[in-house]
Amino acid sequence: MYMKNTIFLILTSILALTSCQENKQTQPAEENAKTYLQEPHSYAQPNDAVITHLDLDINVDFKSQVISGTATYDIENNGSNKIILDSKYLEIESVTQNGETTDFKLGGFDESLGQPLTVAIKEDTKQIAITYSTTAKTEALQWLTAQQTADKTNPFLFTQGQAILTRTWIPIQDSPQVRITYEATVKVPQELMAVMSAENPKEKNENGVYHFKMEQPIPAYLIALAIGDIEYKAISNRTGVYAEKSMLDKVQEEFSDMEKMVVAAENLYGDYDWEQFDVIVLPPSFPFGGMENPRLTFATPTVIAGDKSLTSLVAHELAHSWSGNLVTNATWNDFWLNEGFTVYFEIRIMEALYGKDRANMLALIGRQDLEDELEALKESPNDTKLKLDLKGRNPDDGMNSIAYDKGYLFLRTLEEKVGRENMDAFLKSYFKKNAFSTTNTEDFITYLNENLLDKNNITFNTEEWIYQPGIPANAAVIESDAFSNVEKTLEEFLKTNRIDVTKTENWTPQEWVHFVRNFPKDISVEQMQQLDNTFDFTHSTNSYITMVWYEQSILNGYHGNNVDAKIAEFLNTVGRRWYVTTLFSAFAKAERIEEAKEIYKTARGNYHSVTANTVDEMLGMD
Ligand SMILES: [Zn+2]
Repeated sequence: MYMKNTIFLILTSILALTSCQENKQTQPAEENAKTYLQEPHSYAQPNDAVITHLDLDINVDFKSQVISGTATYDIENNGSNKIILDSKYLEIESVTQNGETTDFKLGGFDESLGQPLTVAIKEDTKQIAITYSTTAKTEALQWLTAQQTADKTNPFLFTQGQAILTRTWIPIQDSPQVRITYEATVKVPQELMAVMSAENPKEKNENGVYHFKMEQPIPAYLIALAIGDIEYKAISNRTGVYAEKSMLDKVQEEFSDMEKMVVAAENLYGDYDWEQFDVIVLPPSFPFGGMENPRLTFATPTVIAGDKSLTSLVAHELAHSWSGNLVTNATWNDFWLNEGFTVYFEIRIMEALYGKDRANMLALIGRQDLEDELEALKESPNDTKLKLDLKGRNPDDGMNSIAYDKGYLFLRTLEEKVGRENMDAFLKSYFKKNAFSTTNTEDFITYLNENLLDKNNITFNTEEWIYQPGIPANAAVIESDAFSNVEKTLEEFLKTNRIDVTKTENWTPQEWVHFVRNFPKDISVEQMQQLDNTFDFTHSTNSYITMVWYEQSILNGYHGNNVDAKIAEFLNTVGRRWYVTTLFSAFAKAERIEEAKEIYKTARGNYHSVTANTVDEMLGMD
């Protein structure tokens, strides 16, 4: 996922857990059978009975905003008389085992985990089928009206599964350790097309029934569905884009380097194992920058800047095809294994394509995000460790800059210590060894010691990086001449109130972002006005620049050039959680919470549940 830091003002809502989550010794599995770790965010007991394949048959009704149908699972039963699935806000109608009706029970409800769905099975049960429907509370789904789309002619639906939301639209063993293959039949209104994290159609068909197949085993959080009036355009024979008609050409142009990115990634860490790499650009309420759904990345339209300046997002989601999708974190406490590796890999892809300068700018922006996050988390230092303990909390609490940017900094520091050649050989073998499997932090450390450090007689403070809060003293120092020049230009302006625009002519959006983000606390409203008059930040077409400019405007009480109306409009259109929470957090810091609440009244309806839940907490709404 590409989300960058989301700073939570109010964090930890400690949730009561039912007995199912309490630590229980893992049972010895049969010889050769996989042993699953106990984990705090799924009711499933896969060591007893585990799903291996899903055949999903659903109807999508936009009028009632309900998905209904049957989820049929092939299972492996390890001698148990029950199989437990995760379910949240679902209506379960009936369940069968080997084709015969069987008993099932929904257990106690937990705010974050939902309910265990326990199904009675027999020793020889090979298949169970659950007939169910979603409800109005389903958190994974966002139903959009035509008005909320780019073309404004048809409604739209998309899902977001990570971290534990897939259970809100499919009853499933929703643990990253449980991998399944799947096929699906999805019935949608005739004028719309459905796509999934699977083999996809490239054209609409006449009856509105679409069949999907995902033959590589994936965890539940990577099952994804989007439905809209969309079209496809290829970039190469294995890459391409889906978008609404009015966006399609722009999107294809913006992402035209996709094939080059796949080639660069393969040159670094081995073959791309998922055959096809497409991106679908969703309506602006999509809560993340991107989501690495296999074969089909979901992306926010806020990266369509017209100049390819924000396409590191595509490099990031592509990198997840190795770190995350191929080698998956075993539990959400190991989330840094997904995201830290992905940021490292993303920056390496960007370096291969566009050079060291651009790569270091990205790395330095992440470094500043990390400092901001450390500041935000200073009261809860345990949350600044790479390996987390999220038992009793929502895994969303761990999805911040620590996993991403501290994870990156660890790997970059390691690279500088062992040398790039050793690092790359090690990462390549790590991805190969763990392909289509999960790994946890402890297994990673063992693998690192055996295959990189001990072998080359290198000592490194791995344990400190992973198990201690904050940033170790040996952290790599990242430098960028371009950013140093930006800082100089800013300093001169602050001293003289004059700015030499010839020095800024060739700045990239990243340099502009760096410029704006580094305003001192005492920058005056007059200085803000002068900069806005010169560079028209308030009306920038680059969403990243406007976002940081709006943040500074809120923090510094700048109201010129109608910026307040632009901020309200932005928050009422864009649902990308990183952007939205940055701005609401600025309102809170500036003690302008009433203004924020006023905007949120109308904006909330445009947000996906993961964004709305975060903002609810920030603004203290119920
Ligand atoms: Zn990511």
